Amino acid sequence: MRIAFQHSYAEQLPDAWAAARPDAPSAPVLLYWNAGLAEELGLPTVDEATLARLFSGAQLPDGARPIAQAYAGHQFGGLSPSLGDGRALLLGEATDRFGQRRDIALKGSGRTAFSRRGDGKAAVGPMLRELILGEAMQALGIPTTRALAVCATGDTVYRDRPLPGAVLTRVAASHLRVGTFQYFAIRGDRESLRRLADYTLQRHYPQLAEQDQPWLALLAAICERQADLLARWMHAGFIHGVMNTDNMALSGETIDYGPCAFMEAHHPSTVFSSIDEQGRYAYGNQPAIAQWNLARLAETLLPLIQPDDPAAAVPAASDVIDAFAEQYQQCWLTQGRRKLGLMGAEPRDEALLYNWTALLTDNQADHTLAWRALADEAAGQPAALRALIANHAALDDWLAQWRARLGPSAQAATTLAEALRSANPLYIPRNHLVEEALAAASEYGDMAPTLALLDVLRSPFDQQSGRERYAQPAAPEVAQDYRTFCGT
Ligand code: AMP
Ligand code: MG
Repeated sequence: MRIAFQHSYAEQLPDAWAAARPDAPSAPVLLYWNAGLAEELGLPTVDEATLARLFSGAQLPDGARPIAQAYAGHQFGGLSPSLGDGRALLLGEATDRFGQRRDIALKGSGRTAFSRRGDGKAAVGPMLRELILGEAMQALGIPTTRALAVCATGDTVYRDRPLPGAVLTRVAASHLRVGTFQYFAIRGDRESLRRLADYTLQRHYPQLAEQDQPWLALLAAICERQADLLARWMHAGFIHGVMNTDNMALSGETIDYGPCAFMEAHHPSTVFSSIDEQGRYAYGNQPAIAQWNLARLAETLLPLIQPDDPAAAVPAASDVIDAFAEQYQQCWLTQGRRKLGLMGAEPRDEALLYNWTALLTDNQADHTLAWRALADEAAGQPAALRALIANHAALDDWLAQWRARLGPSAQAATTLAEALRSANPLYIPRNHLVEEALAAASEYGDMAPTLALLDVLRSPFDQQSGRERYAQPAAPEVAQDYRTFCGT
């Protein structure tokens, strides 16, 4: 297969990577091919056996130049100066049908210069989780990296037990991260830092090139995209799980699906990741953590903003970081208005939205179903919402405020219900269904549950008859003990 690869990252940032080769898999099998994404990338159609070789590391696509990218990162608050792609390889960049440059990278293809004590490998389960969660996010309208392919390698990887190995091919707007800037900042390598900033600006924010203060403008633009992204996560009930600075993409895409999961019973303190013992990356902490990560990015930019006196750039950079809180709040509000079916903007909207989330918290309501039940409520079917929110007095209070805000000139009930259904999904990747799908694939090589789940998740806003179980939360005793693990 010939992909018209470009290598702008490798060429323009010579100190930001190390060359590496993928390991040869012993018996590559294509588990999943994302035909829709392949079409977006303009990739030619080839047979499955060829795809299995090309996207498992057995054979490199023509024009690929595999490199492991360097980066640093704050992991759970502690700084690791040298992380980098320990099990990923960028093959190159391709221009998609929309004229956008996209990275194509392998994940799980073996050791690199950055592997430290890791084996550079990945298992089938976690790679399918990344596929499923990424496709779900995409269908929900949340910016995300995506899986082009998942291949089983035929090799065993050893975690707490032996598992079948896999390689995932990831497509991303780029893999530039907060941690990429930290890598050069820590080393005091201003020259490379400057090149990296230039590269990031040209690749993701070219309209800023003419600004008087391009690096402050770059920081502000990255903050804006993160504010929008985080508001989308929060409204969807998405918990990333490892919001380390190396897992925050400067493109504004969701990246690195490790121990992530969608929340069921709504509560700000919800944590699924087994390694997040302090709840640092709990659902309700995510916006504040995003701001913390952006402050780490801001620190790296100080010497570019004021080369002669970096400390003098602190106030201006701090203002940009402080503004993130308000930007996030505005995004949350704007997106929330749509989810509540509100037209226009009124001061009372913020309290209305806040009180709704408080109602969900107090009643431990299923996040997704409760939002969706607003559509039934609007259509004159109150039962679903009343079943989810036990405190009917509080619910009725809130509904009265909502009705008052919608106003007498509210849209016809059916129009409102339809608007609410197009803003509030019925289907998210339910944790127990994701686990069921991963177990079938991992233990029996059975991809049918994964394919069925992906099919449902592609149309999250449309009620799909015969697929009721895909909308249901796990039984409480299952949900209570749900834990996710880093796919390392
Ligand atoms: P993550 O938290 O999954 O984003 O990974 C953090 C760091 O660990 C990154 O530098 C990864 O490349 C590296 N890493 C994770 N798993 C492995 C592995 N199995 N082998 C080598 N490096 C790994
Ligand atoms: Mg990572």
